[in-house]
Amino acid sequence: MILMQPIPLPSTFVHRHLLGIEGLSPEEIAILLELAESYVALNREAQKKRDVLRGRTLILLFFETSTRTRTSFELAGKRLGADVINISVATSAIKKGETLIDTAMTLNAMRPDVLVVRHPDAGAVTLLSNHVNCAVINAGDGSHEHPTQAFVDALTIRRRRGDLRGLSVAICGDVMHSRVARSNIHLLNAMGARVRLVAPPTLLPTAIERMGVEIFHDMRAGLEDCDIIMMLRLQSERMQGTYVPSTREYFHFFGLDKEKLSVAKPDALIMHPGPMNRGVEIDSAVADDITRSVILDQVELGLAVRQACLDILGRNAPALPSAY
Ligand code: ASP
Repeated sequence: MILMQPIPLPSTFVHRHLLGIEGLSPEEIAILLELAESYVALNREAQKKRDVLRGRTLILLFFETSTRTRTSFELAGKRLGADVINISVATSAIKKGETLIDTAMTLNAMRPDVLVVRHPDAGAVTLLSNHVNCAVINAGDGSHEHPTQAFVDALTIRRRRGDLRGLSVAICGDVMHSRVARSNIHLLNAMGARVRLVAPPTLLPTAIERMGVEIFHDMRAGLEDCDIIMMLRLQSERMQGTYVPSTREYFHFFGLDKEKLSVAKPDALIMHPGPMNRGVEIDSAVADDITRSVILDQVELGLAVRQACLDILGRNAPALPSAY
């Protein structure tokens, strides 16, 4: 097997964990995007393996369902040569009542180098990171943050538009329950884009404008002349009570269709983190329009972003002290 040379690691990304976009500098964001860019090229070659994480162990611990994030982290770890373990929460001792901290300390005792964690509660991944010696990557914690998705979205936009600075990005739909929205707001603001949130008042957190965003309750007003449209799913698994009268009415007012899209810039890109609910937040005619929709590009670039994150954190992951 031919194993290619590792890409030299930048010395200025010094974080031990990746728990959120909040707090990362524009330079750190740019470093990670640059590294991800080199993985995009590598993934398009026949020989995709590098052995930068050979001998390292990656554990994926997902307390919530996932298709894209989990698969791409697993594939990313394997392409970098790590041993990858998937913990299935449904068949683990978590189902017997073990606490999150006990689970974390148990896994830690097996000396992994990187733990990738998704959890339904905001803050749970940060809490867990305080109890382990390895690097921790947040793969989504409740409606708090989903940092790797924001990197995916930024890389997708950058590859199409060259730069994020000055772009108008409309994030539309269930902002209230969306970790994708929060991570994207932090990243887009840090990189000089202008963020608009388009949603009914019931799906916007109070005082969200303090995050430096413009608010719209009307799709046509919010999409007017924008460069990028990010659609969000109605996250009913996080809803207690009723937030929209009906999905039919929601689609009528807030679903992206050709007619609403027509007020955006003629070359505005359509994005969605997935999974999509067709006919609820997005019409198939726009989701599948390959001249405008970059939804499958986001999936391809998701792998490269996760390779970059594992590379940068995994290569630097400290060995556990032997007295531990
Ligand atoms: N996949 C994204 C997340 O995990 C978006 C979604 O579920 O709607 O947050």
